Amino acid sequence: MKISFLSFNAINDKIRDEALKTFQEVFESKWYILGQYVSEFEKQYATFNNVDCCIGVSNGLDGLHLALKSVGIGKGDEVIVPSNTFIASALAVSYTGATPVFSEPDIRTYNIDPLQIEKCITKKTKAIMPVHLYGQSCTMDAIMQTATKHGLYVIEDNAQSQGAAYKNKRTGSFGNVNATSFYPGKNLGAFGDAGAVTTNDPVLAEKVKMLRNYGSERKYYHETIGYNMRLDELQAALLSVKLKYLDGWTKERQQIAGWYNEALKGVGDLVLPLVAAECTHVYHLYVIRTGKRNDLQQYLQRQDVGTLIHYPVPLHLQKAYSDLGYKKGDFPVTEEIADTCLSLPLFPGLTQQEVFFVSGQIKKFFLNA
Ligand SMILES: *Cc1c(COP(=O)(O)O)cnc(C)c1O
Repeated sequence: MKISFLSFNAINDKIRDEALKTFQEVFESKWYILGQYVSEFEKQYATFNNVDCCIGVSNGLDGLHLALKSVGIGKGDEVIVPSNTFIASALAVSYTGATPVFSEPDIRTYNIDPLQIEKCITKKTKAIMPVHLYGQSCTMDAIMQTATKHGLYVIEDNAQSQGAAYKNKRTGSFGNVNATSFYPGKNLGAFGDAGAVTTNDPVLAEKVKMLRNYGSERKYYHETIGYNMRLDELQAALLSVKLKYLDGWTKERQQIAGWYNEALKGVGDLVLPLVAAECTHVYHLYVIRTGKRNDLQQYLQRQDVGTLIHYPVPLHLQKAYSDLGYKKGDFPVTEEIADTCLSLPLFPGLTQQEVFFVSGQIKKFFLNA
């Protein structure tokens, strides 16, 4: 049995006819950027995410960048970002001229620790960027309280958690203005780059709309230095088709995670994903931890089981951020996660038999370890 880390087989089989039909419609429409398919998808995603406004954009990173710009974050400002996220969260901050300030996660959930956020706040802090990592919502009450207390904006990075919720309220609807990614491998994935900004603030929504399209509301009249960060019709049309199935795919992901949880309970020194109270997990990734991570990964590779590490180098130790002056040891929790985490195959269509095969190989590894 060969099990890849990610497969689009089941997802694409489900949408094949509808996707090809909608692609043909876009082809015939002869209108390819910011048209009816983008507007329709924006309405549908706003409804899905329980927000008043959704603005389709070019990708998740650009969405975060526009979200930060819309609240006026720029040079001299600081934004608190978890140290154990994908680099895009921090890059968006850097693009505005502001400085990302890294904060430690909770070792149990891997999400930013609300207690650590307080320690990072200075006179320059303007915003907190919680990242709902691996598919689990952050504990938003504590984060929102801290933000209110210090007069900070909240900008959620919801790239990995479409459909997750905290206290029954969907992630991407808490912050002032938030962003998500439809990169192909995300829970809702396009056939290329795509993303969205979500907000309940119509003024911020208008700003994002203007910024994504050359700073212009009226063609060839430019109010501000904008960008070309638009979502195109073809991607939007596909996303509309896939969005209908997202809740079903999420349930499937949760079922697969349940199979792993059962099969891997008590095996070796494995730490399995923990879902915190009031949070939901949509399992963008199924991440386990073990002190024997590298050996386990190599062993699984030899058994034709694909795994990945999210992420091997924490942001504070990335060369790109060396000028921030952090060093090894500054974020022990983050470094521990980076050294021990391993993501197992999890995607809609993965069968129980395949999950048991992967789990069986892991058990075998620990028996001989
Ligand atoms: C994927 C991802 C992004 C960036 O999305 P792109 O569409 O690739 O630009 C941002 N933040 C997190 C946490 C991500 O996983």
